[in-house]
Amino acid sequence: MTTSHDAPKPAQRMEERLYKNRYLVDEGRPHVTLRRRAIDSDELKSLVRLCPAGCYTKVERGRVELSLDGCMECGTCRIVCQATGEIEWSYPRGGFGVAFKFG
Ligand code: SF4
Repeated sequence: MTTSHDAPKPAQRMEERLYKNRYLVDEGRPHVTLRRRAIDSDELKSLVRLCPAGCYTKVERGRVELSLDGCMECGTCRIVCQATGEIEWSYPRGGFGVAFKFG
């Protein structure tokens, strides 16, 4: 006999899972910063699609902006822009940044 207690839980959407994470922003000390060039590289522009947290957005005149709200510290932007040098990346200080919540 199967009870509702035994029934498998429906799969959660990625957005629902990410919503459980907690972030403590280190105000005034961002762990990822942009080193601006006259023109954004294609690598930097690609982060609008690649960043899993949606931290990169395109704004007026096609420039890329960075907002670290929700950053998961995955390092994708660091790797993608390694050759262009447009990203300065470090881990947040202890006690700051993302706290992953599983389950
Ligand atoms: S470390 Fe990952 S989540 Fe954070 S800004 Fe870079 S690509 Fe986005």
